[in-house]
Amino acid sequence: MNTEKSKKLFEEAKKYIPGGVNSPVRAFNSVGGDPLFITNGKGSKFYDADENEYIDYIGSWGPHLFGHNPTFIKKALLDAVENGTSFGTPTELEIKMAELIIELVPSVKMVRMVNSGTEATMSAIRAARGYSGKEKFIKFEGCYHGHADYFLIKAGSGALTLGVPTSPGVTTGNAADTLVADYNNIESVKKLLKSNKGEIAAVIIEPIAGNMGVVSSNKNFLIELRSLCNEENIFLIFDEVMTGFRVAVGGAQEVLAVKPDISTFGKIIGGGLPVGAFGGKEDIMNMIAPVGPVYQAGTLSGNPLAMAAGVAALSHIKKHPELYDELENKSSYLENGFKENLKSIGKNYAINRVGSMMCMFFTEEPVEDFNSAVKSDTELYGKYYHQMLQRGIYLAPAQFEALFVSTAHTTDDLDKTIKAHAESLETVLR
Ligand SMILES: *Cc1c(COP(=O)(O)O)cnc(C)c1O
Repeated sequence: MNTEKSKKLFEEAKKYIPGGVNSPVRAFNSVGGDPLFITNGKGSKFYDADENEYIDYIGSWGPHLFGHNPTFIKKALLDAVENGTSFGTPTELEIKMAELIIELVPSVKMVRMVNSGTEATMSAIRAARGYSGKEKFIKFEGCYHGHADYFLIKAGSGALTLGVPTSPGVTTGNAADTLVADYNNIESVKKLLKSNKGEIAAVIIEPIAGNMGVVSSNKNFLIELRSLCNEENIFLIFDEVMTGFRVAVGGAQEVLAVKPDISTFGKIIGGGLPVGAFGGKEDIMNMIAPVGPVYQAGTLSGNPLAMAAGVAALSHIKKHPELYDELENKSSYLENGFKENLKSIGKNYAINRVGSMMCMFFTEEPVEDFNSAVKSDTELYGKYYHQMLQRGIYLAPAQFEALFVSTAHTTDDLDKTIKAHAESLETVLR
């Protein structure tokens, strides 16, 4: 495969942009080699600067539930551009967006729009702290909640892949208020609650984690976590930036039937534009300025283009709830294909999947938390990654990430992927 133009562009990019990328997960540090420069995408596929075609399974790291550049989002964007790109005033589209989120996610009664998932989670923590007057919060090892200082403690995604669990630049003061528990381990939560009694404002969790690979929380664990938070007057925050509108219309809270106090969103709700949101019950949301004293703001928050794309995406979901059955069918087809391949080569690698989020770990032990996830052979993943890439399959360039199936993936795409999977495994394990 000729990737000459991408290589040239990367050399150029590295001169002006740290590492040549505007987000570290895009670099190929953990799999080796140079990242590809993508020029355009349509449906399940995208194309690099050398015009190579790939079946894409990162979907811009989650947003593209319907594949690349779906006609109904493109049309909504073009219409919005006609009216102007930003006003810095309220617009009617923001009401539509809020109504859609509130209608589709019953635990959310009021919502504030922001520009990224990171802003959503940091604002949610601020609201919980402001409301409760308490400063500490609990997160779980391997969960990623964006790049705000106090979340970069034992975080997932790029922070995990690149081996900087606690980033320089994060102060010890910031780190001191972040308590870290073990995923799916209620005893580790109880221990922290006991030793920090009355000091914890919130517990934040990815109810279905997608940033240490895909790892779902056990339902009983989540139910116990909910009741512990009730007993101790602690806000339970579900970070649904990845899972919201991905694993079900109502997100992970619908799949696992546990309700949080505050939810955070991003990715899919922006229809491919930079958007985030946080929401919950009226009393907590009314803590936010200008009604309440907790300051939170954004020059481009609720931006008309972003709202147009988001409203188009969520309206489509509302009108077509059956698309989650389609995603489930396609994703289980892919999972079964992978499992058949593994069987025929005598490997029992762990495959975790919830709806259209999936991950194959290069370890034969079950993966239920951070410690079991990191047993994966990441070097082997790197080799497998490049074999898949050569066969035109674009996966996340790191082991601890999710593979996303979209409604645009066809049976032909899935069959090609299953075939590539078999050949790639055979090659790297030979
Ligand atoms: C992607 C992600 C974030 C961060 O969102 P950004 O838009 O990248 O700031 C936060 N939490 C989870 C669970 C995510 O997957």
